[in-house]
Amino acid sequence: MDYLPLFHNLKGRNVLVVGGGEIALRKVRLVQQASALITIVAKDFCPDLLAMDADDKTHGCNGLYLVTGAYEHHHMLGVDSVVMVIAATNDPELNRLVAEQAQEANILANVVDDPAYSTVIFPSIVDRSPIQIAISSGGDAPVLVRLLRTKFEALLPAGMAQLASLAGSFRERVKTKFSNGADRKAFWEEVFYGPIAEQAYANNLDTAEQLLADKLEHTSEFKTGEVYLVGGGPGDPDLLTFKALRLMQQADIVLYDRLVSPEVLNLVRRDATRLYVGKTAGDHPVTQDNINQKLVDYARAGNRVVRLKGGDPFIFGRGGEEIETLAAEGIPFQVVPGITAASGCASYAGIPLTHRDHAQSVRFITGHLRAGKRDLNWTELVQPNQTLVFYMGLSGLETICQHLKEHGLDAQTPAALIEKGTTNDQRVFVGNLDSLAPMVREAGAKAPTLLIVGHVVSLQDKLAWFNLREQK
Ligand code: SAH
Repeated sequence: MDYLPLFHNLKGRNVLVVGGGEIALRKVRLVQQASALITIVAKDFCPDLLAMDADDKTHGCNGLYLVTGAYEHHHMLGVDSVVMVIAATNDPELNRLVAEQAQEANILANVVDDPAYSTVIFPSIVDRSPIQIAISSGGDAPVLVRLLRTKFEALLPAGMAQLASLAGSFRERVKTKFSNGADRKAFWEEVFYGPIAEQAYANNLDTAEQLLADKLEHTSEFKTGEVYLVGGGPGDPDLLTFKALRLMQQADIVLYDRLVSPEVLNLVRRDATRLYVGKTAGDHPVTQDNINQKLVDYARAGNRVVRLKGGDPFIFGRGGEEIETLAAEGIPFQVVPGITAASGCASYAGIPLTHRDHAQSVRFITGHLRAGKRDLNWTELVQPNQTLVFYMGLSGLETICQHLKEHGLDAQTPAALIEKGTTNDQRVFVGNLDSLAPMVREAGAKAPTLLIVGHVVSLQDKLAWFNLREQK
């Protein structure tokens, strides 16, 4: 992180602006919205700045002070306790000098369009005060920032400002009513996701306030927590569902697996407790019974528990076992599907799982062969016109290819192994039942990997589109 985003309380504090043109004007407007006392030093002032000054005087605000003339060091030191200096002239040398002098005096400095000389930079702002979103690329991609800002503008209902202010006015009363933080949070979440929020967005503030007062009056205690069994997808965080994201951001506790990518985990609410309960092959740090029991216990204690799993929880994810316990114990739960590795990896590798010319069906198979070949019905697997997708097939790769050949599949049948599918580390190995295993061992592929066998794999060289530099 190159910059730490902070929100600066400038109310009544002195800010010095050097420069009187359009660029300075933009900064002055911002800083003025934050109720700072602004001194502007410039040889000339653009008409808008002059108008602002006149307006300020008319309204007796005394927030603006225009100094006509060339900038000199004493302007910075002479104004009482300047907390920030903005250099906004069209002379880069002068801007840098101002910045250097500010830094010597330990004053925050912003040089317009020159992050290298700035100690602080202005973000792009979505303002629904008291809600504010500040976006920055540290100067690297301003256009991208502008696009993002447009998205956020569209995402945040204009009435969110009123809703937040309304919440602010009830804050103390809610605190008094619920001494327990978790109860308070549950209360506010219902407010922000329900009819009260909708009324505020519709600008029916009296109704919203009345509803909120009623709710506070009549809510006595909160029910037990809930468990959300959430599919976190195969790795790329963009593949999460809205619902998964929403619940992740409301969670008190998150129990996650090894397959959940760091990028996905990063989207969990920051204050949530994160518990790793993953298994590594042959090593079971937390037993399944133990996980099931933890889910029950945390929910009973009133928490919103997210059980976050890689891919889809109901596909080789033991999701069924976990919610069986919850159901037996009467704990409310929801299941949120995720993109399973087969869909994710196939899409990101450019291998359609079905195709009119090649495969009319697809099978998801566990490649975890405990008892060798007796585990699977190989005769069914070698039927024509189907795609086979093996999960957990890396260690048994040779055995799987061998059995498929022995039961009648041609050694030339195309096969692909996708390593860390959908992530930036994705690698795709394409060969056939003879060549794939040696190729994969040679390259030292590591779990998680997915094996796809069938004629659809031959389309890959035409359809690959993702992470092409890493393609094998
Ligand atoms: N519930 C998960 C699967 C759990 S089993 C799902 O729906 O995807 C674990 C197996 O999933 C791994 O051994 C591997 O075969 C596969 N897998 C999961 N994520 C993967 C990824 N990003 N790339 C390749 N394979 C993956």
